[in-house]
Amino acid sequence: MTPPVPAQPSPIARCHCGNLRPYAECCGRFHHGEQPETAQQLMRARYSAYVLMMEDYLLETWHPSTRPPDFCLAETIGTRWLGLDVRSQQQSGEWAKIEFIARFRVGNGPAQQQNEISRFVREDGRWYYLDGEFPPPTPTYVQPRKR
Ligand SMILES: [Zn+2]
Repeated sequence: MTPPVPAQPSPIARCHCGNLRPYAECCGRFHHGEQPETAQQLMRARYSAYVLMMEDYLLETWHPSTRPPDFCLAETIGTRWLGLDVRSQQQSGEWAKIEFIARFRVGNGPAQQQNEISRFVREDGRWYYLDGEFPPPTPTYVQPRKR
């Protein structure tokens, strides 16, 4: 009889989107062709695509009606993505709305955050990003108005 194997503390593998799962089992499988089942999976996969600068994936998952004609991530070079927090989500039928905060840093600048409420729509079983609203930033980030 073999003695029970002591539990090894497994190294924490985090996906780019912040989930406590290795990238390959989280957003990676969507980047390799699997269809997300929920809008939140798509939202996370899109965040990871920003981290990995996968323009094609971002365009592919953008609804054709709102997809920008040209889209280039070159301007995000120098941006370091620090994390993602999902604040709330609502789904009804083929529509979903997810509020999240993405934190990032540009060059050596201070950490910043972007609050977005994204809308997603499902067509033929595929989720697409439709558009986003940007609620006013939290008071600490409000610049005094000059008039
Ligand atoms: Zn992920």
